[in-house]
Parts: sequence; structure tokens; C-alpha cells
Amino acid sequence: MFEEFDPQYAAAMADRADRLMAQYGIPRTPANFAVWFSYSRGDLPELKQVIEILIAGKKRFDTTTCRELFSKYATSNIPSAAAREVPGQLKAAMDQATRYVAQTIAENRSHIQAMGDVAEKAEGGIDPITLVQSLMNELNKAATRAIELERSLNDTSRELDTIRDSLNRAEQRANTDTLTDLPNRRAVEEFLRTAQTAAMETGEALGLLMMDVDHFKKFNDNFGHGVGDQVLRLLARVLRERLRERDLPGRYGGEELIAVLPGASLSVCESVAEQIRRSISECKITRRSNGEMLPAVTVSIGIAQFRPGESAVQLVERCDAALYLAKRIGRNRVVTETRLEGQYAA
Ligand code: GH3
Ligand code: MG
Ligand code: MG
Repeated sequence: MFEEFDPQYAAAMADRADRLMAQYGIPRTPANFAVWFSYSRGDLPELKQVIEILIAGKKRFDTTTCRELFSKYATSNIPSAAAREVPGQLKAAMDQATRYVAQTIAENRSHIQAMGDVAEKAEGGIDPITLVQSLMNELNKAATRAIELERSLNDTSRELDTIRDSLNRAEQRANTDTLTDLPNRRAVEEFLRTAQTAAMETGEALGLLMMDVDHFKKFNDNFGHGVGDQVLRLLARVLRERLRERDLPGRYGGEELIAVLPGASLSVCESVAEQIRRSISECKITRRSNGEMLPAVTVSIGIAQFRPGESAVQLVERCDAALYLAKRIGRNRVVTETRLEGQYAA
């Protein structure tokens, strides 16, 4: 969370968090402090947006709201239990393996020494049967230890597999949005960076699609945030279903979804976006609690194509401008960057 730790800045943000919590009557628990500290820093755009909406709507920050803010937004910045436990587990497994190997090397050395002693006795004229028996004894001891060592190393290797699985699961959680199960903003940005490099290497096209729900605030106000959440999950499903395997869908912010389409030209992106827009507008949405039919939800979609050499920020900005134009000229439509003028002209 803190790439460059600046104690003065952190103290100022902590003061700010304290003041805000006092102002809104929020208990000073560690979880609430994490939320408001993050809000003060402004490092989580989704959290910032939701808090501002709540403040603007004069909503009370009751226990449930506070708990939800923490679990939905603040926990992704706190290392998961698995991530915290893994270094300890890993160290214990490696220490154990090292101990086994060191012990076995030491024991092998003493077996070899013992065999050397037997050989010395032989030179002194010992009975051959006794000699062979002594050698067999020492060899047996060494073989037993080798089997034990193999078993211990197998156990360690199994432990390492478990640790690797928990690391994979922790990474998966850190890259996934909990509401929609889509890759989150961080995962999309990482994918986009890799896709940009690949597009420059291969000369392939790379398309970006940004989608925002039309009049979603009103929808939430009319039917409740819970139903709004249900709609976001539905949109995520439609988006996922309409993309190809090599594309990446994601949740970019509150009610804004995104898709990165490697190898897709503007016209391919446009037809994919149009299918998504139409499918969504045709979805029948019913309230889960009582089956009541709700009005259709529509989305506006902006499309931009990567220009080799530009930054991800420039690409996203142009896509956002196309989306904004789609909103301005009536919503429920797809607009590509070719319709933009001025600073965005190709
Ligand atoms: P526009 O057509 O211009 O996009 O209008 P809008 O009302 O959708 O736009 P605005 O940006 O004013 O509002 C976005 C709304 O999205 C505000 C908030 O209620 C809603 N929203 C953001 N994140 C979530 C979420 O996780 N769940 C729900 N239910 N609503 C969300
Ligand atoms: Mg929006
Ligand atoms: Mg909207």
C-alpha cells in the first residue's frame, strides 16, 4: 500500500481520517480507521466514490455500512491471511528439509567412517564372515536412513505444493472483484500492459471497450442498492459470455466495466460491443425477492484502439472520451474513437 513511506504525510492522513470519523460519528475501530485512512489518501477510487455518494445522500454510516465498506473495499489492500501465513509455512518446510539433508550427510559420513574402521580391522586379520557381517550392518543402516530421507523429502515436497496452492489462491483473490467475480482494475491494468507490449511486437491490433450503466443512480434510488448489485452481476455475465477466450473482461470502477481485446480491430470491437449492448437491453430483470419485473437497463459503450507507443492512460482516456460522447448523444449506444475530434484525432 505504501510504496514510499512518508511519515509526515501518513500522520496528516491519519489526522484527516480521525477528523472525518469524528464528524460522521464513526467508532474508531481498526477496520473503520483502515477505510477512512484509505479514503483520506484517495488511493481507492471505488471507495472514494461510494463514500462521496453516501455523504452526498446524507446516509448514516451505521455498523452495517461501515462493515460493508471495510469488507468490500479496504480488505483488498490488507495482506490476506494466506499471504501472511505463507512465508512462515514456507520457512518451516525449508528449515525441516535442510535439517534432514544436513543430518543425513553427517550420518553417511559416520557410516563411511564405520566401514573404513571395519576395513582396518580386516587388515589386522579378522575372520572374513565377521567382516562381511559388519559391512552388511553398516550398509543396512545407510539404506534405512536413505529410505527415511526420501520419505521426509516427499513430505516436504507435499507441504510445498500446499503452500504453492495457497499462494495461487491468494493471488487470485487479490486480482478479483468480489461483487462480479470479474478481474479487478489492477488485474486489467496488468493485462493491458502486457497486451500493449505484445501488440507492438506483433503489429496486431488491440482494442479497448469501456461500458457504463445508463442512469444507474436513478435505478439504485428506485429499486435499492442490492438490486443494483444484482444488475452489475448480470452485466458482468453478459460481458464475459460475449468475449472470446483471449479477451479480458474486468470491473474498472463502481458501475464501469471494461474489456481488453487483443487482436481486435475497431470494427470487430464495434460489433462485439453492439452485441453486448443489445443483449443487455433485452435482458429481463426481475426482483429476486418477489419476482417483480423491473425496467430494462441500458449501457453506453466507448471503444478505442491502441496506438503503438502510447501509454495505457492515453488509451483509456480516449476510450473514456468515446464513452462520454455516447452518453452525451443519447446513451444506450456504442461510440468508437473515430467520432472524436480535436485532441483525439488520429
Ligand atoms: P449516467 O447515465 O450518466 O452514467 O448516469 P449514472 O446515474 O449512471 O451516473 P453517475 O456516475 O452519476 O452514478 C453512478 C452510480 O453508480 C452511482 C452509484 O449509485 C452507482 N454505483 C456505483 N458502484 C455501485 C455498486 O457497486 N453497486 C451499486 N448498486 N451501484 C453502484
Ligand atoms: Mg459512471
Ligand atoms: Mg452510469
